[in-house]
Amino acid sequence: RRELLTTYAGKPAALANGRRMIAAANIGSDTDAAFALQQGAEASGLLRTEQLFLSRGTAPTEEEQFTIYRRAAEAFSKVSPGSVVIRTLDIGGDKAVPYLSIPKEQNPFLGYRAIRLCLEQKELFLTQLRAILRASAFGKVQVMFPMISGVGELLAAKAMLQEAKAQLHDRGEAYDQQISVGVMIEIPSAALTAPALAKEVDFFSIGTNDLVQYTLAVDRGNEKVASLYDYFHPAVLQLIHLTLQAAQTRRIPVGMCGNMAGDPLAVPLLAGMGLQELSMAAGSIPQVKYVLSCVTAQECHALAEAALRCDSPQEVRKKLRDFAHTHR
Ligand code: PEP
Ligand code: MG
Repeated sequence: RRELLTTYAGKPAALANGRRMIAAANIGSDTDAAFALQQGAEASGLLRTEQLFLSRGTAPTEEEQFTIYRRAAEAFSKVSPGSVVIRTLDIGGDKAVPYLSIPKEQNPFLGYRAIRLCLEQKELFLTQLRAILRASAFGKVQVMFPMISGVGELLAAKAMLQEAKAQLHDRGEAYDQQISVGVMIEIPSAALTAPALAKEVDFFSIGTNDLVQYTLAVDRGNEKVASLYDYFHPAVLQLIHLTLQAAQTRRIPVGMCGNMAGDPLAVPLLAGMGLQELSMAAGSIPQVKYVLSCVTAQECHALAEAALRCDSPQEVRKKLRDFAHTHR
């Protein structure tokens, strides 16, 4: 079984009828790239930049950030499509960052975090955006904003990106002028206003870890309510569906970078709903490629239609399990 999976690491992600998908890795730094590539990652759908900002006394400089982002971009340029989605800082009151003035909050997950913080701490944000832009001269870098709740925040973030571009232009630095810009769909309001967001971005990436937490009002880290935390809840599936419909209307691609994307049970459903890229912990990639190779687009589509008609997570799971038994 292990050998079977090792052979799948090296194959392209594709359904049994040939339709291509992208199996991508979530990474926390450039140093994760080698393992991801070894596991068969075809891109990185999420570079979480938080790690770089934690456990230190001052914010990383533009130069430090640039070096790491450039190395990640260069590492993935060996594969196809080889894109690296760099997510801007997603940090808030649940983490201690001494050099950022983050107040202690009652509800840090509903508070001052991620894009909300970056839009206020302008120097911090511009520095990161310049570093990301400079890395885009060395590979297929895409920039992604986290925790977007509506089009206003997106437009404000895009204006900052324009400002960072202008600063680099004045300095005579190279960057990809057509850099792809995306948003995470991880707040229900973003999924529900996806038609408006889709007009303003080049791609969506669905973050199920937070989308489930905010849709079901279940803290993603609280053991006591863990049994209610379920990405197969019909409400979550409907929000994913709405996101995909809005994206299809504007012809922009949709990826998923939450943990659901690496769940073999979910994979045929996600392919059937129309996801194009699945980004996950690198170790899951061989198995996800294997699962994709066992099913056709038509079968997945029928499965997705059936799952979207279910009334409960249990019913969805049963459909997915039955499907898995007959397709492997
Ligand atoms: C998510 O919310 O699904 C996600 C991918 O981001 P994070 O887990 O970093 O919040
Ligand atoms: Mg998130």
